[in-house]
Amino acid sequence: MLDNFKRYQQGIKVENLFPTRKDKLCACGCGQVLLGRKTKWFSDNCRKIALNTYYIIKGDSDVIRENVYLRDKGFCRNCGVKSLDWQADHVVPVFKGGGACGLENFQTLCIDCHKDKSFYLDRLPDSRDILTSSLNILPSSNNTFRAINQRVCKNIIRETVCVSE
Ligand SMILES: [Zn+2]
Ligand SMILES: [Zn+2]
Repeated sequence: MLDNFKRYQQGIKVENLFPTRKDKLCACGCGQVLLGRKTKWFSDNCRKIALNTYYIIKGDSDVIRENVYLRDKGFCRNCGVKSLDWQADHVVPVFKGGGACGLENFQTLCIDCHKDKSFYLDRLPDSRDILTSSLNILPSSNNTFRAINQRVCKNIIRETVCVSE
C-alpha cells in the first residue's frame, strides 16, 4: 500500500494507517482505553496527532513544511544558518526509498546546502548515502558557523567518496 519510492501516496486513507481497533484501544497507538461512546480516538489530541502523521506520510507538502518549521525554526540542519528560503529535504531521498516517511525523514536545508546535496547525489548515484544524514548541529544565526560546517561537510564528502571507491 505504501510505496517508499514515491513522493505522494495516492489513495491512502487514515483508516489504512490508523485502523479502528477491536480491543477498545485508541487507534493512534497511545495505548489508552476508549471510554464511554468513543469508538476510535481516546482524545481530540490523539486524532490531531494521527491526522498530522497521516498527511506527512501521504506527502502533503503544506503540512510537511509546517511541521518541519515547528521543529527546525528555519535553521538549516547542515550549516546552521537561518533563512526564509529553506527547503524541506528528504534525509533519505525518495529515489532511495525515503518516501512515505514521517517527520524524522525531513530536515530543513538552506538553498545552498540543498543544492550541494543534490549535486553529490546526482553525480555519485552508486556511492554510499553521501550527505543523507545531516550534521544536526545546533541552530545558530552565527555566520562563522556556516564556514566551519561547510568545511566539515566537504571532509565528510571526501571521506565517504574514498571509502566507496
Ligand atoms: Zn490515542
Ligand atoms: Zn545550509
